[in-house]
Amino acid sequence: MAIRLQLLTADLKEIELIERYWAMDDAGQFLEKVSALGECLALPQGVTLIGFIRQRCRAFDENQVCPECGALIEIRNRSEAKKVPLRSTGLCARCKADRDAIALEAERVKDAELQRLLAEFGDRQASKRVDYATVPDAQVLLLLALDTAVTPRLTSGGFTIGDCRGLAPWYVGDFVEQLREAGLILEDPLKARPGTYYWKGDEIWSKGAQLVYLLASGTTAGDGKEAISTLSGRALTDAQGLFGLWLDYSVADVICYLSDQCDRYSLELTEQQWDELKSIMRSALESYSVGQLWFVAWAAAKDASSMTNLRYYNREKAAATIPGKIRRRLEKVRRGALELSSWSRPEHQPAGTLGMVLTETFGTDETTTGLTANACIARLTGQECASRAADVLCAPIRELMSNALALDLGTAVMLRFADLIRAGHDVSFAVEEIGSTLRA
Ligand SMILES: [Zn+2]
Repeated sequence: MAIRLQLLTADLKEIELIERYWAMDDAGQFLEKVSALGECLALPQGVTLIGFIRQRCRAFDENQVCPECGALIEIRNRSEAKKVPLRSTGLCARCKADRDAIALEAERVKDAELQRLLAEFGDRQASKRVDYATVPDAQVLLLLALDTAVTPRLTSGGFTIGDCRGLAPWYVGDFVEQLREAGLILEDPLKARPGTYYWKGDEIWSKGAQLVYLLASGTTAGDGKEAISTLSGRALTDAQGLFGLWLDYSVADVICYLSDQCDRYSLELTEQQWDELKSIMRSALESYSVGQLWFVAWAAAKDASSMTNLRYYNREKAAATIPGKIRRRLEKVRRGALELSSWSRPEHQPAGTLGMVLTETFGTDETTTGLTANACIARLTGQECASRAADVLCAPIRELMSNALALDLGTAVMLRFADLIRAGHDVSFAVEEIGSTLRA
């Protein structure tokens, strides 16, 4: 018999049943069918034959040997028995228990090491100091917006990325990352949920969504609340940095809307296509408003979705046309061949606390064009933004003004200028257009 039995019962009838269950011929075939065995003994209700046998007998397969100690492997039923001798892949119960105990101990040691390293990391983070007086203006506004979004957890208790949802319509993680890279917010590993940090080989990895952040301490005495209240009184001077923040935020506002439109038509874009769209929108926002680009995004998604029914097109190919459609539409607008409409803010897309801070600080919103925003920021900071656009416009505007006054057409020129801007043209187009009429 290839199955070695260790009987746990002295009842002869039970022993007979057990031996008949496990009996096999030389070829490893079981001699009797399980269904035939049910009749030889009345089993208590609710007890299966195999359960009954296992309680009264342990079975070891002579064809399976523990690779560690050479002992026979215990099997639970017929299907686990092997017909021919095999080197078992599994260990016997005792070796397995030994090995589990060793693994458990190793895990305990590694876990203790992880906790020690995290405590050290936490101490190093907590000892960092930031001189809030030197933090750039754009990061100051971003911090104030974050404080409103997660209040009061920026300065006490800590917050996760998920808590920052109210900061901006899109790219919340990127905004928070800007602050983390600048050392203004720090990870607090001891406040994170157990399991947030874990070993992967010899490296410590973390689950981004569970990381807990906290505002870095300032160099001067006082708590985080004091640092934030000092920042809110900051006199802003860095026009270029602030316009950069305005652009970052406006791009998020436009891309959120475009992503919504793509979802609506089940159009999926690749990460590379999204990066391309981000660049297109950022450059367009230097002239146009978020509301105008919502219109452009809406039109491009709608056009692309109508192509999905065309021959040789599918959703993927149709989605891939969106960046090109947006580029061509914007080129037409710049050439004066097309006028831009402006959409108002969708109900389900709030401006976020960063949008509110920008509105409070500069008076800008989704209807403000990049040119106007740039001018508002320049006015507030008392500095002209070092923008190529302003330099390039200087001479043509001087020429336009002197011609208009010389011809006594000041009013007509201003009204025409206002019309063109309202129609979505940028300042340089309007100046050139009116200038050419005056020269004619
Ligand atoms: Zn063993």
